[in-house]
Amino acid sequence: MQQEAGVDGEALEVWIDQDLCTGDGICAQYAPEVFELDIDGLAYVKSPGDELLQTPGATTPVPLTLLRDVADSAKECPGDCIHVRRVSDSVEVYGPDAE
Ligand code: SF4
Repeated sequence: MQQEAGVDGEALEVWIDQDLCTGDGICAQYAPEVFELDIDGLAYVKSPGDELLQTPGATTPVPLTLLRDVADSAKECPGDCIHVRRVSDSVEVYGPDAE
């Protein structure tokens, strides 16, 4: 199983608010293992098993090896719609709601 997580060893997960997604595909370029554009032109997260997760608010674990790419995606996302949060308390650590 792939090692997950991030800040201070805390497990992290990521989700996308498709209502704000512009479909530019920056996230899928940064971290194609985690993000993918569907035929509807919007980005979705993928499960560790590479399945596209299309339920609104669906989350997927952030693999430790991809943390930097996922964090950069959240920073560069023009829709401000990529949310990376701690699994333990759902506090956002990267994204529009991060402190
Ligand atoms: S970077 Fe943001 S706006 Fe662009 S496709 Fe990904 S989630 Fe959508």
